[in-house]
Amino acid sequence: MLNLSRRDFVVSTGLAAALGLNARLVVTPAFAQKTADPAKPYVTYKIGDAEVTAVYDGIWEKPHDPAFIANASVEDVKAAMVKAGLPADFVSIPFTVVIVKTGGKTILCDSGTGGQVQPTAGKFMANMKAAGFDPGKVDAILISHFHPDHIFGLMEKETNKPVYPDMEIIVSDVEYKFWTDPSVIDRLPEARKGLARRIQAVFPNWKNIRQVTGEPEVAPGIHFVLSPGHTPGHRAFHLTSGSKELMISNDTAYVPALVVANPGWHGQYDQNATLAEESRRKLLDRVVADKIQICGYHFPFPGAGTIAKDGSGYALSLMKTA
Ligand SMILES: [Zn+2]
Repeated sequence: MLNLSRRDFVVSTGLAAALGLNARLVVTPAFAQKTADPAKPYVTYKIGDAEVTAVYDGIWEKPHDPAFIANASVEDVKAAMVKAGLPADFVSIPFTVVIVKTGGKTILCDSGTGGQVQPTAGKFMANMKAAGFDPGKVDAILISHFHPDHIFGLMEKETNKPVYPDMEIIVSDVEYKFWTDPSVIDRLPEARKGLARRIQAVFPNWKNIRQVTGEPEVAPGIHFVLSPGHTPGHRAFHLTSGSKELMISNDTAYVPALVVANPGWHGQYDQNATLAEESRRKLLDRVVADKIQICGYHFPFPGAGTIAKDGSGYALSLMKTA
């Protein structure tokens, strides 16, 4: 099914009327989603006694752009997508929120796009409810970093009202201080200034944000893991339950077809690409050495698997789902 934003629909309807066509026949190619949504948009698996549910929010089929990877060509990027079994004509960037039930608590890992990032995403809240979760009964929300696709699910569109006014939102102090420093706006590239302004208009007014330093345990068996570079305070989350572990890698290796296979590729969205590469290699080496599972916010849904060394890079084997 086509996925048109309301504005597009209005434009399309107007255009259709002008052309004397039936609105149903008008397609806006830029928003025509090619990837089918998963038949079941939530998948639950166990890590020890913990129950992990991957909840699908949507996908961004990002058009190719030579600036996306600084040290690889669009042809290299296309070849990497094909090697990972993905379509070559765009970069698949799905969004998946992980919900962990552990030690009697229900913990959200990031918040989804809130339908404010791409017209083909914003299904998290509906899918979370379909998976049997009550958004009013979440115990805490862990935030990996302050990019829009990870935090806009915390705030209502336009009004900026909190979606989770009573839940503790836990974030790295480095990330919080970076984005809420008024002087950061002058230092950020043009494309990120609006994000910083919105963060500064919203988060300092909320009483339920807790800043944490380093790698503390933030929920039963869940620790923050330093993973800077993508943003200054980017964090992965490490879950332990019994003898099992899961590295919730967030955006450390955001599009695995590209940067798990080629950890030295420097992406446009890594604020400090050299540091991001260092964090990526360190985290992937740890996952390989400890033989633990890994998941990622932009990994192909449901986004969990294992990692092995593969030549100069790594190979991701994804969990199979029926
Ligand atoms: Zn992201």
